[in-house]
Amino acid sequence: MTTSKSALNPRQRESALAKLATEKFDVLVIGGGVTGSGIALDAASRGLRVALVESQDLASGTSSRSSKLIHGGLRYLEQYDFKLVREALQERELMVTTQAPHLVKPVAFLYPLHEKVKERTYVGAGLALYDALRGFQRALPNHKHLSQKGIHDIAPSLRLDIVNGGIQYFDAQVDDARHTMMIARTAALYGATILTRVSCESLIRKGKKIVGATVKDSTTGESIDVSASVTIMAGGVWSDLLHEKFGITPGYQVRMSKGSHILVPKSAINSSSGIILKTAVSVLFIIPWADKWIVGTTDTDFTGDRNEPLATYEDVEYILAQANKVLTPKLKHSDVLGVYAGLRPLVSKTSVTSTTKLSREHVVDHPEPGFVSVAGGKYTTYRVMAEDAVDHAAPDLRKIVKESGTKELPILGAEGYSALVNNAEYLAEDMGISKDQVIRLLDRYGSEIFTLLDLISEEPNLASLLSPELPYLKVEISYAASHEGAMSVEDVIMRRTRIAIETVDHGLSVATDIAKIIGPILGWSPGARKKSVAAYEKQVERERESIAQVLQNDRVSATAN
Ligand SMILES: Cc1cc2nc3c(=O)[nH]c(=O)nc-3n(C[C@H](O)[C@H](O)[C@H](O)COP(=O)(O)OP(=O)(O)OC[C@H]3O[C@@H](n4cnc5c(N)ncnc54)[C@H](O)[C@@H]3O)c2cc1C
Repeated sequence: MTTSKSALNPRQRESALAKLATEKFDVLVIGGGVTGSGIALDAASRGLRVALVESQDLASGTSSRSSKLIHGGLRYLEQYDFKLVREALQERELMVTTQAPHLVKPVAFLYPLHEKVKERTYVGAGLALYDALRGFQRALPNHKHLSQKGIHDIAPSLRLDIVNGGIQYFDAQVDDARHTMMIARTAALYGATILTRVSCESLIRKGKKIVGATVKDSTTGESIDVSASVTIMAGGVWSDLLHEKFGITPGYQVRMSKGSHILVPKSAINSSSGIILKTAVSVLFIIPWADKWIVGTTDTDFTGDRNEPLATYEDVEYILAQANKVLTPKLKHSDVLGVYAGLRPLVSKTSVTSTTKLSREHVVDHPEPGFVSVAGGKYTTYRVMAEDAVDHAAPDLRKIVKESGTKELPILGAEGYSALVNNAEYLAEDMGISKDQVIRLLDRYGSEIFTLLDLISEEPNLASLLSPELPYLKVEISYAASHEGAMSVEDVIMRRTRIAIETVDHGLSVATDIAKIIGPILGWSPGARKKSVAAYEKQVERERESIAQVLQNDRVSATAN
């Protein structure tokens, strides 16, 4: 098993647990979503000693359930929040060019217009501003006006009777769960101790200061006291619960808003571009996702179990109805391959305290010495949130803390990405796979592709496909456990790959094969293997129950055909 500093696996986990118990850290991060992982990277790359604990899997909260867009947010323009849009657009440019060109890709969107003059002038002005707010760095093309014929050529599926023109503009997209995991691994590369399945249970106080936390390893039930000069909490929608548990009076509260998405096959919508539709309350995106479309999202208040936000029948009906207003032929229930839902952590200020800084999007709170928390914001601005949180924590460290250097810092796999793409043909020969597969791998692993190549040369069988219906090679499954910190079948199917939402059976047919590949790496007995498969099956059953009516309609239309 590899000992590379960025690898997350059982051996690394064992030594990380030992470190937690014995070292004194500058910063302890609670939460391994994109914000917590970003904080770990920001702090580690400033030369601080960092530990991060995540109670489940990296990105298992909101950070694997977003619309997967890296964008300025067109709707904020309508609210005149230019500062916020500019900040997000600048982050977008940095991710596409420097930080993560292997993972963050430009994506085109069509904005269909229904009126000829007034709407075109209004939306055109908005998109001109959207382009201008990027500043001088311009990795993505400018927006472009299209006639009715122009938009029809790109998206024949848009109804000509109501769409009489459009505007094309560009944003970017990312596999959020992979990106978050790569940020955490980059933090590990710079020395951070990263641990999943370890939850923070309470804070340790010495006088008036918080000097660390007691954490619990859920695989053994063992508790560990972690010593840290400052603890930074990035708990997303768990923030209120954690504040209460820790006895902290925060300066803000987090409201949960649920957003659901559906996945439909590429063939269901004839378009070579993504599409954005204005709805009565917000917007609906139709986003290209390999050989599928992601369509969403909804926006409803949520008060249920944070650990299981499930898409409901009503959510799916709403999404289909909104999309079908402009699509021909209409999407059918039987087109729905997968669904997923996530919870937006929306912050609101509870009291005016000098320690609370609230921007429209995220909040950084410093309610007690030795404890800082950050919440809200959006995926796109995770780096800014992370920098902000570490800056607020710096005075508690009582030493000179360097400025954040993450703006220009490539994350794992980004170095030399474009040179590797140029050499895809040679890499394909080396690996004994097609050039298309090499490009696909480069877009998931970047320069880490060489580690996969090494694994294949040790075990040539790993170059074969996991299943003829899926693009994933066996080596990707193996690497998920040996390098990417996957500890269960669910981790692999839901977050290291996207088999869960990309297949009609949610990956049940490959679950046992996946367990066979990762079992030896994770040191599983045959019993442990079966248990992990069974746990995943149960999870799928729960999700199926919540959209049972959609599946029912699916069956009805399948029999009717
Ligand atoms: C439907 C939807 C669509 C979205 N689309 C976009 C988009 O397209 N673009 C965009 O920029 N943003 C988007 N967002 C927003 C974005 O996804 C979130 O802002 C972001 O993912 C929040 O990340 P986080 O790290 O703060 O929270 P999370 O990812 O939820 O991370 C919090 C983590 O804390 C862990 N945790 C909880 N308790 C403990 C404990 N006691 N100990 C240790 N760990 C603990 C949890 O397990 C969790 O992993 C969307 C959000 C939703 C819901």
